[in-house]
Amino acid sequence: MDDLPIFLIQTAYFLAAILFILGLKKMGSPATARGGIVWAGVGMMLATIVTFLTPNIGNFGLIITAIMLGGLPAWWFAKRVAMTDMPQMIALYNGMGGGAAAAIAAVELFKGTDHQTLAILGALIGSVSFSGSIIAYAKLKGLMKKSWAFHNQQLVTIALFTTIILLGVAIIMAPSHMVALTFMITVFFILALIFGILMTLPIGGADMPVVISLYNALTGLAVAFEGFVLGNEAMIIAGIVVGSAGTLLTRLMAKAMNRSLMNVLLPSSHEQSHNAIDDTEGSLKPIDAMDAGIMMAYAQQVIIIPGYGMAVAQAQHKIWELTKTLIENKVAVKFAIHPVAGRMPGHMNVLLAEAGVPYDIIYDLDDINEEFEKTDVVLVIGANDVVNPVARTNPESPIYGMPILNADKAKNVLVIKRGEGTGFSGIKNNLFFADNTRMLYGDGQKMAAELLQNIKSL
Ligand code: NDP
Repeated sequence: MDDLPIFLIQTAYFLAAILFILGLKKMGSPATARGGIVWAGVGMMLATIVTFLTPNIGNFGLIITAIMLGGLPAWWFAKRVAMTDMPQMIALYNGMGGGAAAAIAAVELFKGTDHQTLAILGALIGSVSFSGSIIAYAKLKGLMKKSWAFHNQQLVTIALFTTIILLGVAIIMAPSHMVALTFMITVFFILALIFGILMTLPIGGADMPVVISLYNALTGLAVAFEGFVLGNEAMIIAGIVVGSAGTLLTRLMAKAMNRSLMNVLLPSSHEQSHNAIDDTEGSLKPIDAMDAGIMMAYAQQVIIIPGYGMAVAQAQHKIWELTKTLIENKVAVKFAIHPVAGRMPGHMNVLLAEAGVPYDIIYDLDDINEEFEKTDVVLVIGANDVVNPVARTNPESPIYGMPILNADKAKNVLVIKRGEGTGFSGIKNNLFFADNTRMLYGDGQKMAAELLQNIKSL
């Protein structure tokens, strides 16, 4: 393959960077997000093709084999993944990005590089993102306990981090011919991987969204550092774009949870506790779909709160049909979205957009929370943690302090869920026991269909 002149390579990388940024901009709105993904994908394709034409690049057989080994399974799995498994898939792919950056750092460090500090930083961040994302994947997939802590975990984590930093500095300062250098680099990677695991194990409750977006940011940063090490502009720009977008998302998620990042990463033992005092009073009061339908049809205003269970049931289309029928009956209907509802940022917005719900009836937490008091009926479908009042009242609870949607303040609350299953944080929900709450037990899609049928028959 003939090499391209440097000028053309840099122009192509510049074009790729513009495509990444414009793509990201388009991803900012659900209406243009699909196009944004295509734009960014074209940018990545351009950057990849141009990299093949860069001087001093060899081993094409190996590179193409690696692309096939990574790309084909990723394509196959991404085509087949269920919408409900998307969050863990994203966590996994995120980890793979961090792992790839750490692998580049390993090659450069073992070979000897002029950019040791950057390579060490990329190695640390990439390794932490890799092992931490795998633990996040296992938690989201339900393969392991939501949070796992041992005595003095905070201290051990801090001591381990300090050791890693000291070892990193020692590697940077060590003369390149030092015999023990290979050993030191190997230990550095092992400790960094363990640190990623230890840092993620105790994070459970409802704080996972913060940590997932943090790993997203870290992966971007690691790629950017390794871009500097390799002198590859496309990697630097793509890494910085992902790193800064991930950082903003982490801030938004932490704000949504009313937590500082330190609070999430170094939870104290009571924050790790999932055995919060059970202060539920009252009983669960079932209702049938006919009575629930009558309640909604004669309401002036209904607010619908979707949660993870709506995604599991794929009930969004039926919910939209139900909404249209209520609107035809002169009922004002609004959707209230909690920033961490579901299992990935924007999960509910994606589902509602897919069903065709117009954006102007979808409200964020801050914009709708005042309205619950004057709302006749709130329909909670498959949401649990995001409407749990213990977040306000019980300091022992792992979700204490998290802002919730004020469903409990409405005149009547209808809750669609299959049984007495808890939410992601694994705790009881006082809302379900409240005097003004009625439980409509069943699968989300089935119950939405029954409600729709009953309202139409009135
Ligand atoms: P929750 O996970 O709190 O609750 C979901 C509820 O849905 C369960 O109580 C379950 O009850 C019900 N459910 C499950 N399947 C169905 C079904 N087929 N039909 C009807 N109901 C069903 O969901 P929320 O959206 O309220 O909260 C999200 C949680 O996930 C938060 O704790 C958040 O921190 C966490 N999280 C969020 C991420 C994000 O980025 N958004 C990422 C990782 C974690 P039952 O079994 O009785 O039906």
